[in-house]
Amino acid sequence: MSLKRLAQVAVDAPLFDSLTYQLNPDFEVQRGDSVNVPLGNRQCSGVVLSVRDANEEFDLKINIKMITSLDDERPRLSDQFLKWIEWVGEYYLYPVGRVAQLCFPPLRKTVKERKSDRPSVIPTVGLKIQHKLTEEQETCLKEISAVKGFSTHLVHGVTGSGKTEIYLQLFEETLAAGKRGMFLLPEISLTPQLIQRFAEKFGDKIAVLHSQLTDRERTNQWWEIITGNKEILIGARSALFCPVENLGLIVLDEEHEASFKQDEKLKYNGRDSAIMLGRYLNSKVILGSATPSLESWRNAAEKKFYYHSLLKRVADRPLPDIEVVDMRLEKDNDTRPRHLPSWLSFTLYQEMQQRLEQNEQVALLLNRRGVANMMFCQSCGYTSECPNCDISLTLHAQSHLVCHYCDYHENVKSKCPDCKQGDLTPLGLGTEKVEAELKTLFPDKVVARADRDEVQSRLELEELVQKMEDKEIDILIGTQMIAKGLDFSHLNLVGLLLVDIGFNLPDFRAAEKSFQLILQMSGRSGRHVAAGAKPGKVVLQTYNTEHDAVKFSTHHDYLGFVQNELTHRQALSYPPYSKIASLKIQSLSMDLARQGAQQLQQRASSLKEKFSVFSSIEILGPAAAPMFKLRNNFRYHLLIKSPNPQVLNQFLRRVIGDNKWIAKQVKLTVDVDPINLL
Ligand code: ADP
Ligand code: ZN
Repeated sequence: MSLKRLAQVAVDAPLFDSLTYQLNPDFEVQRGDSVNVPLGNRQCSGVVLSVRDANEEFDLKINIKMITSLDDERPRLSDQFLKWIEWVGEYYLYPVGRVAQLCFPPLRKTVKERKSDRPSVIPTVGLKIQHKLTEEQETCLKEISAVKGFSTHLVHGVTGSGKTEIYLQLFEETLAAGKRGMFLLPEISLTPQLIQRFAEKFGDKIAVLHSQLTDRERTNQWWEIITGNKEILIGARSALFCPVENLGLIVLDEEHEASFKQDEKLKYNGRDSAIMLGRYLNSKVILGSATPSLESWRNAAEKKFYYHSLLKRVADRPLPDIEVVDMRLEKDNDTRPRHLPSWLSFTLYQEMQQRLEQNEQVALLLNRRGVANMMFCQSCGYTSECPNCDISLTLHAQSHLVCHYCDYHENVKSKCPDCKQGDLTPLGLGTEKVEAELKTLFPDKVVARADRDEVQSRLELEELVQKMEDKEIDILIGTQMIAKGLDFSHLNLVGLLLVDIGFNLPDFRAAEKSFQLILQMSGRSGRHVAAGAKPGKVVLQTYNTEHDAVKFSTHHDYLGFVQNELTHRQALSYPPYSKIASLKIQSLSMDLARQGAQQLQQRASSLKEKFSVFSSIEILGPAAAPMFKLRNNFRYHLLIKSPNPQVLNQFLRRVIGDNKWIAKQVKLTVDVDPINLL
């Protein structure tokens, strides 16, 4: 009888440790193989982490179950890739077996592909235009190409400086060296315009993964890149988990974007995980942005990243002029025509008239949907609130009230449900209202709206982009959905309505996010204005002209903003000067949630007192979360800070422990490097 062999398997279950199984004599397995194993009374898939000889004395005293079958359709994950998967699980405190499942497509392979009547994932190829690179592009490209193997590069280039062109060239180099590439960007920036540019250069060598694909399309795209049929994978953050072999280059554009962070389940940051993947696979990692995150900026300043800057737009095209309008002065402005709605300054109105007369397009940004953000009773002060969440209901289409968090709906009433006497009137502003009033102000112009109510699918966004390109739209009003990546040649005026919305959120990144949004949206203006011609224009309306995000964006002064903001962060030891994790405790019972939060706090402080390794840990809270009630759950949170990520990780593990101390009706979640603090 030969020696028994055992495998450690990371199973697709909420278990932090891998489980031990006996090898099945019917087939071979190795580290990285996908297998099916018995778990409780069901079958579960898992990935083999290691194989070893059994220790007759210890291991075989207990009855160890046997691996049921080998899933030989799934390719074996390479040692280095699996090391990355293990890192993701450990760093974000998520079961490795669950992380590993993200590496595979949703469906089984089919031998014969059924013909689909949906349009092809990849657009048809147009004319290929090869630009002569600008000096800045040339330098950036040379510097990046000169470094071999794993390295992280921050490409900091103003909007329209030709960053995408640089990426295209880098992919070309990568393919020429016989390697493959991955291009990651926010879902919303994954436009047909963008895919088209790649298709023009690389023909049918590209695979695309985005949220709108059917499971079958996703599975097919996945196999195309795995088998090497395609050589460049373009996708949103989750494409990172596709185990592309021989990966030479990862480019992640708009690296500052919050959407690279997944907010639920595995709360990973796509940017940080991409850098780690590059490290394990020895691939080059490029991060691009016009407004890099403070984290990346500091990494570049500390020479952890290579830094490349592009200060000019291509072909010496001018950056737009940004004019700030103080809305507090607007009501005393005697020259202002009376028929203008209160959200529109006279300055912006005049600019709009001029640009529209010249047949140019205008885009307005307002980061709030709906007609009004609440209904208000003038007799008793009642406001319409969501019964499930701590938030007011937003008026939509003059007819119904909606919760933007849980989707609760009700019909709008004219009389106050509380005092039964007063009339309910809408308060506040949303894109829907602006759209309606624009139509009245400019009756012979075509107005279109882009927000989550109007544009619900990729296809709808694509149609809208096409209409903008074909100049079938004169005025576009939208939420942040329109702030990124879009490139329209006749769009020369951008209006920012009420940028103040983001200023006072209870989030230490509020100023940074507002600043980025202002510059990103401004970057849509005048992108194709020739050198020497009249530049594009941005009108920034605000009630807070002294706010840092306003002051520095007026001069496109990223550096000034960053230096100023970093001093605040340092003073409060917030990222990038420390690592933080947020622990959320929630329950349908307010008492249980509060008790759970107190228990958690006690565990954390006694741990810190007991072990000197944890002396650098700072514990903030527990406090009620800014959104105290969400979907009927009461929520508390605790913030843990540490200058050292390893210490933070160890601390979190010990605090959470085996989870058994938490009451059944209470849910505890951990978010390492949180972006959303609400
Ligand atoms: P970014 O990604 O920095 O916003 P893009 O790469 O999208 O900039 O470039 C902006 C526009 O300029 C695009 O329409 C692109 O085709 C064009 N472009 C890029 N590089 C050059 C160049 N060297 N000469 C002329 N036009 C260019
Ligand atoms: Zn709600």
